[in-house]
Amino acid sequence: MTQFQTLPLDAAVLKSLDQMGYHEMTPIQEMAIPKLLTGQDFLGQAPTGTGKTAAFGIPLISRLQAGSGTIDALILGPTRELVQQIAEELNRIGAEKGIQALPIFGGENVFVQKEALRERKAQIIVGTPGRVLDHIGQVTMDLSQTRMVILDEADEMLDMGFRPDIESIFKHLPGGRETWLFSATVSPEIRKIADQYMYHPEEVRIQPQTKTAENIQQMYYVVKDEEKHRLLRQIVKEHPDMYGIVFCQTKRDVVLLTRKMRDYYPIDCLHGAMAQGDRDQVMDAFRSGKLKLLVSTDIMARGIDVDNLTHVINYSPPHDPESYIHRIGRTARKGETGVAMTFFNPFEKRALEQLERRVKMGLQKHPSCELEFEDAPPKGFGRYQGQGNSGFSHGRGGQKPNGHNPNGQKRRPRRSGNPNPVAGQTGGTSSPSSAES
Ligand code: ADP
Ligand code: MG
Repeated sequence: MTQFQTLPLDAAVLKSLDQMGYHEMTPIQEMAIPKLLTGQDFLGQAPTGTGKTAAFGIPLISRLQAGSGTIDALILGPTRELVQQIAEELNRIGAEKGIQALPIFGGENVFVQKEALRERKAQIIVGTPGRVLDHIGQVTMDLSQTRMVILDEADEMLDMGFRPDIESIFKHLPGGRETWLFSATVSPEIRKIADQYMYHPEEVRIQPQTKTAENIQQMYYVVKDEEKHRLLRQIVKEHPDMYGIVFCQTKRDVVLLTRKMRDYYPIDCLHGAMAQGDRDQVMDAFRSGKLKLLVSTDIMARGIDVDNLTHVINYSPPHDPESYIHRIGRTARKGETGVAMTFFNPFEKRALEQLERRVKMGLQKHPSCELEFEDAPPKGFGRYQGQGNSGFSHGRGGQKPNGHNPNGQKRRPRRSGNPNPVAGQTGGTSSPSSAES
């Protein structure tokens, strides 16, 4: 991966990126930024979570002159949340340069937005199409100087029926502008927009990753949930130099596991309820090697770029193959080798099979693992009994898989088609993101 430093970016932007902890470019950024710095229409397709916001935000802010007093760029996004997120990211990128982005969306106090527009401090407007059109209609938004228009998450905007609004907005924009379009997918409808409103766009497509790095040795264990922490202990005993990340499904799993492991290994955790100062402290200790194992959830581990990690351990299999690929990619960076170990409980054979299909390779069962997969219990069988226990100690006891629910507690049916039946098993938490908040 290439460093941002190697690009001819504005020095103030580079400084902001450094403060944000952005050092290396993601693939879409690597492909898009050099082109967008030169100025041309652009159509970028890349899967969700690959850094598309910064792929346009960095060259955009790098090219703008601070203090123009005009709306130089207009960004359209599908929802209030995304608009806010985009504006936040742009404001971070533009912090050192003094370039501001103003989010505009429905449901917000129109007066406040009008006031902000009147102040003319924001050179970038980020808005939902409907609300942007409202402001154009009321002449509160002067787009006569707008040179760049960016459609972000274009597929979602079109799915939500924003096409007429987008087309109306285009009619109000000066000619000779640049149009950039970013999307996770490119449908025929997006094609039409590109043909109609873009001038010979440069097209870049980053395929979703399906194959994982070959220098990562991928292994799995079949292990009962209540045995997982003992297995982890045994693994660290066998690998005294282990330096890695253990991924858990929920914050609760993270905390409980860390507690159980503390006496055995230099380990600490990262989770959403920690104060920023504590998180930074843990990350510093981990980066410096003082901590050898970091226990975390997917969400918290996002953006952790630590070199020389020897192991990634999936304490439970991730929700989806993308997440698996993302997790194990934390090791074996820069051509080094690494080991990924995934713990499946005896009923998660399907999760393993689905993973192998999607990553297009077989995972190797660890030679020391003797336990076999068992047939999945009948639908609705209470492997989720004992709600409120942690992810690894909600024991089935020694129950046979086809046995009955011994204590008649709440059952939680397994959703069919869910690649990972572990999801949502703990403490009433139903998704990893809600576990984070
Ligand atoms: P997309 O729009 O492609 O779904 P986002 O732009 O929302 O993805 O980025 C996903 C996450 O990756 C965000 O949390 C963002 O802060 C982070 N990110 C983006 N680029 C980088 C980078 N170069 N280095 C580190 N983190 C990054
Ligand atoms: Mg995005």
